[in-house]
Amino acid sequence: MELWYTGTRDASERVSASQAILRGLANDGGLYVPTEIPKLAVSMEELAEMSYQETAYEVMRQFLTDFTEEELKHCIDSAYDGKFDTEEIAPLTSADGAYYLELFHGSTIAFKDMALSILPYLMTAAAKKNQVKNEIVILTATSGDTGKAALAGFADVPGTKIIVFYPKDGVSPIQEKQMVTQKGENTHVVAIRGNFDQAQTGVKQMFTDAALAGELDTAGYQFSSANSINIGRLVPQIVYYVYAYAKLYANGVIRKDEKINVVVPTGNFGNILAAFYAKNMGLPIKTLICASNENKVLYDFFATGAYDKNRPFMLTSSPSMDILISSNLERLIYRITGNDAAENAAMMKRLAAEGRYEITPEMKEQLDDFYGNYAGEAETAGTIRALYEKTGYVIDPHTAVAACVYKKYREDTGDADTKTVIVSTASPFKFARSVTDAIGGSHEGKTDFELCDELSAAANVGIPQAVQELRGAPVRHDTVCEAEEMPAVVKRFLGIA
Ligand SMILES: *Cc1c(COP(=O)(O)O)cnc(C)c1O
Repeated sequence: MELWYTGTRDASERVSASQAILRGLANDGGLYVPTEIPKLAVSMEELAEMSYQETAYEVMRQFLTDFTEEELKHCIDSAYDGKFDTEEIAPLTSADGAYYLELFHGSTIAFKDMALSILPYLMTAAAKKNQVKNEIVILTATSGDTGKAALAGFADVPGTKIIVFYPKDGVSPIQEKQMVTQKGENTHVVAIRGNFDQAQTGVKQMFTDAALAGELDTAGYQFSSANSINIGRLVPQIVYYVYAYAKLYANGVIRKDEKINVVVPTGNFGNILAAFYAKNMGLPIKTLICASNENKVLYDFFATGAYDKNRPFMLTSSPSMDILISSNLERLIYRITGNDAAENAAMMKRLAAEGRYEITPEMKEQLDDFYGNYAGEAETAGTIRALYEKTGYVIDPHTAVAACVYKKYREDTGDADTKTVIVSTASPFKFARSVTDAIGGSHEGKTDFELCDELSAAANVGIPQAVQELRGAPVRHDTVCEAEEMPAVVKRFLGIA
């Protein structure tokens, strides 16, 4: 049966999965959503026996119905291969009464790899299917992490090129090193003399520049985006919830149909929305626990029904969750309006104009499956330390926000019996500085590499390949330009005069 996608702000839209992936954003700034959530079509007994790749196929084929079996399996096998440092791809580690789902075993040791390693293949398959002859050029502006994960995902994928812009003085030294040493004949990295907003604005202008699009088309290229709201990033994220549940079942931790909780460290609301979709596919999930850092706009939303981004922006030790507009929440809002594109569009318009909107009591009633809370900076560090002292297991600050919120959930609700999966979104080696400080060491006067060596000894785990590779890696990208020069640089890379 074919599954269609519609827009959250335009009910008249109806596109296939591959078209939604190619387009990225829906009409009027809306997001693509499936017209219904399909059910899992295999039994838990079967899933319990499956590899990550096999599970991915069973989940993704329900959502991407216009991909053939051969296409989808090719995408999955190309994405989840030796780039990951474990065959399990997303292993579970038991510590202190919870199960940590480690999503950081890919190229950039953080969870964006789960989706960005498959998106390039989905996109090129979608292009072929829709008779797109042009080569796809991914343009991205980054403040650090997403740029590197996208570069790693698209590197040497046939039929694609990727150009990443970052603010010269706006990313950490290690993030810059990760990007400028990126391998791959089709990768380009450019520092701009300006801030992230200028990089972002420059990219947006190129996306809407019709004359530039014409020049590209003549030369056999077209732009696309690896943005986190692409349905091609959301669907692959549903997989690891099904996989984790099936592994708990296979290992006898849970009985058939026993419900589990999931705790998700949340920023843009993509990861937890994938868990919500998994639940709607029939996966026995009790509570979706939404963990925020001091940017606790989602906690306030779940508590009051009002979404309000008018507040100070906090810089925390979990930077990937420093977000005041959680774009993917729109997909949930759309759903609790009863799939009413007009009502959703009105709320999003209010958000753009006033920075605030409020849901109705009827809508709020449908959020009973969610629990929101947050962790302050001292609580986050304290959580890393306490877990380390008790078990020897070291977690990163994003994961620690989730672990802290899980503790608050248990205290608040008294639910201590439900088996719980805490989603672990980054390797502690990625945040060696704050993790070292949290477990009682000091980062004073030490390089990031020295800190990783110390952490490796303290945690008794090997240094990830992604960190090792950086030591002594040659710089491959040294272009620096003004923000105004971005289109000229793109044309030069593409060989357009
Ligand atoms: C992106 C990211 C998150 C937040 O995920 P969302 O899907 O945006 O909610 C959490 N932790 C890490 C390490 C991330 O990179």
